Amino acid sequence: MGAKRTLVLKPNEIRKASLIIRSGGTVAFPTETVYGLGANALDSEAVAKIFHAKGRPADNPLIVHISSREMLNMVARDIPVLAFKLMDAFWPGALTIILKRKDVVPDITTGGLDTVAVRMPAHEIALALITGSGVPIAAPSANISGRPSPTKAEHVIKDMDGRIDAVIMGGETRLGVESTVLDLTVTPPALLRPGGLCLEEIIGTIGEVNVIEESVRSPGMRYTHYSPKAKLILVEGERKSVLFEIKRLIGESRKHGLTAGVLVSRESALDIECDAKYILGSVNDLKEVASRLFSGLRFLDEAGVDVGIAEGVFPEKREGRAIMNRLRKAAKEWVSCYKEAGIK
Ligand code: AMP
Ligand code: MG
Repeated sequence: MGAKRTLVLKPNEIRKASLIIRSGGTVAFPTETVYGLGANALDSEAVAKIFHAKGRPADNPLIVHISSREMLNMVARDIPVLAFKLMDAFWPGALTIILKRKDVVPDITTGGLDTVAVRMPAHEIALALITGSGVPIAAPSANISGRPSPTKAEHVIKDMDGRIDAVIMGGETRLGVESTVLDLTVTPPALLRPGGLCLEEIIGTIGEVNVIEESVRSPGMRYTHYSPKAKLILVEGERKSVLFEIKRLIGESRKHGLTAGVLVSRESALDIECDAKYILGSVNDLKEVASRLFSGLRFLDEAGVDVGIAEGVFPEKREGRAIMNRLRKAAKEWVSCYKEAGIK
């Protein structure tokens, strides 16, 4: 079904949305992390529509969303004790776990891997949609591949109108970054993607976690991601030197007749003069920054600037890991100010 018009549904129309999923269609829906683009995870034709609508590479597997432990048993096998410990502590929530898959899960859903990524989202609408559909729902973020993930229904409509069957309007998502992906098929468990659930919480619950930078085992981490249309330059380091460098880059852009927009911390906002400015939040409030990050990347598009500059000054702890990870993936160029600040 090549969707011609996308139905815009209210949160009280989940029944309609469930029927669409059951009949092999695609529905975008809110979760606590970002909006997902869902289809029946066990129906390869339905899942193919997700890849088609997003323009997603076929070897990038999808997260299977469930609403009960029974559904987990439908898709995964040989579930380790550690998984139950994590599920008890963090589900429903922003933790995706990688487990061995059962054969009912089609190859297209897992990108041909013999493992499956599973998550129970902490969102009323998402859970009601999954339960109403009666099947696990495969759902990547509901954006065109390579674009920033959607944290508002309006973002979904902008990217996906006419490409999917329906979208459920569910307001702004609470966390604003995608789930943390943890591989439980290896010992110790491996962090494949930092995300909405902080690594500190996971370590506090299960002890050792292997943090693999730029994991090759999570195929999704290989591709360009989250990119605004403007060329994005990420300036990392200590805030004062970063501020200095950002001002220099704005001056350079102007000299070449280019407009510049910035994504900055609240602390630096007043010190920067440019064509478009978006305050991500305080360096002391990483939750706020995470929730505003993708809107910020989309803001650069709306502002129509030639060059985007992001202030990479958020500490790499708690939500800061996901924030810096997404900024690095979104950036086309990277400037380090660590040396100037005398920091290694
Ligand atoms: P998205 O749903 O677009 O936020 O991306 C899902 C992420 O989970 C991507 O980085 C995928 O590569 C990763 N993922 C999904 N399934 C697996 C799997 N079986 N093994 C490893 N990584 C996975
Ligand atoms: Mg995505």
